[in-house]
Parts: sequence; structure tokens; C-alpha cells
Amino acid sequence: MKAESHDELVRFLVSSGAAVTEGVRAALKAVDRAAYLRPDQRAEAYYDAPVILKRDRGGRPFSTVSQPTIVALMLEQLAVRPGDRVLEIGTASGYNAALLAHLAGDDGFVVTVEIDDDLAAAAAERLADLHHVRAVAGDGRRGYPPDAPYDGIVVTAGAPRVEAAWVDQLVPGGRLVVPITGDSGRGTCFTYERTADGITQVASMACGFVPLR
Ligand code: SAH
Repeated sequence: MKAESHDELVRFLVSSGAAVTEGVRAALKAVDRAAYLRPDQRAEAYYDAPVILKRDRGGRPFSTVSQPTIVALMLEQLAVRPGDRVLEIGTASGYNAALLAHLAGDDGFVVTVEIDDDLAAAAAERLADLHHVRAVAGDGRRGYPPDAPYDGIVVTAGAPRVEAAWVDQLVPGGRLVVPITGDSGRGTCFTYERTADGITQVASMACGFVPLR
């Protein structure tokens, strides 16, 4: 799907059934994806496709602005409420962090962790006007202990497994949305809820992601 405008992309995400709740729809309306792309990539801003930001030496993409459909579906799964504290792992340019900030609202808080220093610094600058969002450089496999516990944790890179740190840093009833992928990048995105002694799976869907490093 190649929408030509922000409005058209949002209408598509609503009519396809990816964006269901009023909160997710309002966030998608409020955040313009073009602002999270390089100027030379903005023609693709409203396509329902990932946009590659960085490749490794072998030419494999390791950072993308995710596909809008998967972004919307994962936001629905995370079920962020106003006032929530949310951790995102894999900032890239900060598009999803801005959507999360809209959902959590001024009373909430979002911290997003990116392993690539340059991307983390650029995202911190891009998100500077949103006072309840912090973009930090680091390895999200450890979660982000300084601001834990979180009501929601969303991993936006393909992980080989659920890390104990993510489970430990969730409040009881908090949600973890994480793509578990193989070498191909294809896999399953799981939604878990924190229980007294671990996690329980509440949903799953097929997905593809660049790998967690
Ligand atoms: N959330 C983004 C898309 C993320 S792409 C969006 O809004 O569109 C996945 C990102 O995860 C890449 O930028 C990659 O550099 C980062 N990443 C990979 N491994 C990581 C790790 N261990 N900790 C934090 N970030 C990681």
C-alpha cells in the first residue's frame, strides 16, 4: 500500500483493522512519519512498508523505520493507557517512541533505548520537545533499570528469546510485546502479561524484524 499523504495512511490503517482503539488512531494522526525519515526518503513516508535507515558492512539492514501496519498492531497489543511508564527497545529514528509518548500522555513517561550511538543521539535531538520521552544509548537486552518498573515494554527488533531483565522490569499485569525471530528475521510477535511469578502469553501474530544485537 502506497499512500500519498499522512491522512491517507491513517485512513488505511483504520480501514485495514490495524488501528482499532481511539488512542492508537489519535496517536497515528498526531505523529507525522515523514518527520522521522531523512529528507531524501520522504517520498516513501506514507507507504505501508519499512524504510531502511542503516545497513551493516555486508549490506544487511540493521535499522529501519518499521512498517506502519506492524507499528499499529504492536501498539494495540501493548495497550498503553494515559499515565503509563513505557520502555521501548530499538529507537531507530524515534517514530514509535513519539507514538508511545502520545499514548502515555503528559502524565506518563517513555524511555527508548538504542544500541547504535549515532541513531540514539539523533533520536534524542528529534524527540527533545517531548518532555516526557527520554532517548538513551545502550543495550536493551538489559532493559533499562534506572526507570523501572514499567507498565509496558515493547521490543522493536527481533529477539532470540525473552530476556529475564524485561520480565523483572514489568509491574504485575504489565505487558511485554516482543518479536521472537530466527536468522531470517521472520518470526512471531508475542504479547505477554506479567504475573506474580513470571509471564503468561495473551496474543501472537506473524512478523518480521531486523535482529536485536
Ligand atoms: N522502533 C523503531 C524501529 C526499530 S528498528 C521505529 O520506531 O520505527 C530496530 C532498532 O533496534 C535498530 O535501530 C537497531 O539498531 C536497534 N537495536 C538492535 N539491537 C539492540 C539492542 N540490543 N538494544 C537496543 N537497540 C537495539
